[in-house]
Amino acid sequence: MPSHTDAVQAPSLQERFLGAYLGFASGDALGATVEFMTAGEIRATFGVHNTIRGGGWLRLKPGQITDDTQMCLAVGDAMIASEATGGWDLRCVADGFVKWLRSRPVDIGNTCRRGIRRYMQDGSLHAPELHDDAGNGALMRNLPVALGTPPVPLAELLEGHDPVFTQRSLEQGRITHGNILSDASILMLGQLTRVLLAGGGVDDCHRVAEQWIRQHPKFNFTPWPGRTSGYVVDTVQTVLDGFFSASSLEECIVSVVNRGGDADTTGALAGQLAGARWGIKAIPTHWVDKLDPSVRKKISEQVEALLRLAVGQ
Ligand code: MN
Ligand code: MN
Repeated sequence: MPSHTDAVQAPSLQERFLGAYLGFASGDALGATVEFMTAGEIRATFGVHNTIRGGGWLRLKPGQITDDTQMCLAVGDAMIASEATGGWDLRCVADGFVKWLRSRPVDIGNTCRRGIRRYMQDGSLHAPELHDDAGNGALMRNLPVALGTPPVPLAELLEGHDPVFTQRSLEQGRITHGNILSDASILMLGQLTRVLLAGGGVDDCHRVAEQWIRQHPKFNFTPWPGRTSGYVVDTVQTVLDGFFSASSLEECIVSVVNRGGDADTTGALAGQLAGARWGIKAIPTHWVDKLDPSVRKKISEQVEALLRLAVGQ
């Protein structure tokens, strides 16, 4: 039974928006330290890895973020620049990826690089269909679409009726990833994020996840199969197991990144869901304070603009 205190403390829409985006960036910055390590190696090195300290295979500064957050920022910038056309212009999104690629990013996934190069060469906005290359690179950059697309009522969301969000999400994903599992993962985590932003509860999320798993049984995460690679099925299972097992944002992100593997991406996506659920105030201040200040500022600005795009305020 929800207590009176819970109701009073329910995060506002703005707190959920900021929580999702800064939760995402925090998960990226925290997880990047242990990306490609095993859970055993992480335990031997750090005990529990729960402070943002940089390092890792990318030799990051403490608080530095990686391609996950950078690609989100590129999508967000493109949406904000397209305000006059309702916040969506796919070519603008693709051009944003080109600009990002040319900025010599600290890391980039193979499928993302291949897709952006294809766009640079022939201007085509759709990757060819691939059956064996379902990486998480398109999934990891869809948060701004979930934030900046006008909301639909919770009842419709729960029925899976969110046509503008669906169209935009698939369009941006397919710039680089022509894969049915990538598509499904984007819509699944997107629907969960939008349900949480709309004030839906964890029971609603369970039902949404169950519906997706009925359509795509590969995503079944109970019991968690223990795989943490960048394969989108492994990523979704890890993120959902962490999200549904946790009772706080910090526990959610820490539990996911300490499993290792593609820890910056699973950490970021866990932070996206946990932030949409618990809001900005649930993020440990020592994480937010450590985040690269220019990224923190950029995220705050995008959140204001995406909120305006979504709800006109
Ligand atoms: Mn990354
Ligand atoms: Mn990664």
